[in-house]
Amino acid sequence: MAAASLNPSPALAAGPLTDSHGRVIHDLRVSVTDRCNYKCVYCRTGEHGAQYPELTAAEYLRLIRVFVSLGITKVRLTGGEPLLRRGLVELVQELAALRTLAGELLDLALTTNGHLLDTLAAPLKAAGLDRVTVSMDAVDAPTFERITRVPGSFDRVLGGIRAARAAGLTPLKINCVLLRGFNDDQIEGFARFARAENVVVRFIEFMPLEEGRLWNPEIVVSLREIVERISRVLPLVELPAREASETARRFGFSDGIGEIGVIAPVTQAFCGACSRLRLTSDGKIRTCLFSQVEHDLYGRLRAGASDPELAAYIVRTVQGKEARHHIGEPGFLKPSRSMVHIGG
Ligand code: SAM
Repeated sequence: MAAASLNPSPALAAGPLTDSHGRVIHDLRVSVTDRCNYKCVYCRTGEHGAQYPELTAAEYLRLIRVFVSLGITKVRLTGGEPLLRRGLVELVQELAALRTLAGELLDLALTTNGHLLDTLAAPLKAAGLDRVTVSMDAVDAPTFERITRVPGSFDRVLGGIRAARAAGLTPLKINCVLLRGFNDDQIEGFARFARAENVVVRFIEFMPLEEGRLWNPEIVVSLREIVERISRVLPLVELPAREASETARRFGFSDGIGEIGVIAPVTQAFCGACSRLRLTSDGKIRTCLFSQVEHDLYGRLRAGASDPELAAYIVRTVQGKEARHHIGEPGFLKPSRSMVHIGG
């Protein structure tokens, strides 16, 4: 553990955390479990459950506190399915208390499939959660349930979305991964859904991160195709980015009612402005979704590292953050973990 010279005392708020490519890292995605109650066809094979252990709430809290002291201002809880994690509401409450450390800047968000959100939305809001993103890959029940492979899931998710809005977990975003031949017939329906439900729908290009072997370039529905198809029925105008590290390109409907976004990591990669780190459920740092190496932060905690030593390790790890991913290039290798086990 080097870097005594890095003066990494968390109490001293050493940020901003900067990588060797000059990017400021302020966004941490934390997987609180790699268990999931859905078996989305493009994500899980459905043959495996959880593969990795989960840290205790106290361990997450300690590690996240160190990240926040280094300049992380956005923490997004994810998984697996984060709402399956027992004690999640209490964890959010304790994370919200870190706001004093971050000078009120800490933005707490959650990505969920929404299945359990109808009862959890209000307690999560009360605990201090700011925002929620719900994943929803179809606007009609049969298509949706063919994807999730869980009967009744469509109504559960719709109920969850409405409960989140009623609880004030806004702006409410809906993530939809599009796959040609599975749900690309939903694009126009989603545009109407965004306007009717007053939510921002964000289409995501499918990345090679599935447990099985489904990905190929033809199955990816590109940003260009999505925007062209929606524009034919509901004209769109591109909106300016709110911040440089924003993953989604934003488009408003030309009558001013509603907005969609497209996250295009495959056809229009945004690695140059990446501000993200990931912490897996077993406490490994991943500096890129497509990293071939993981960094065992939890191992250091278990070995008795102090907070300044953990901070120094994070600072050093961030230095090695990859410049970009190599999806679609010759020699591309999928990471050793799939999306559900990394934390999306
Ligand atoms: N269970 C939660 C959920 O459904 O939102 C959180 C975890 S899930 C892995 C996070 C997001 O990653 C979801 O929106 C999901 O659709 C997306 N996702 C999963 N596999 C993907 C892939 N191969 N390419 C792009 N997005 C993917």
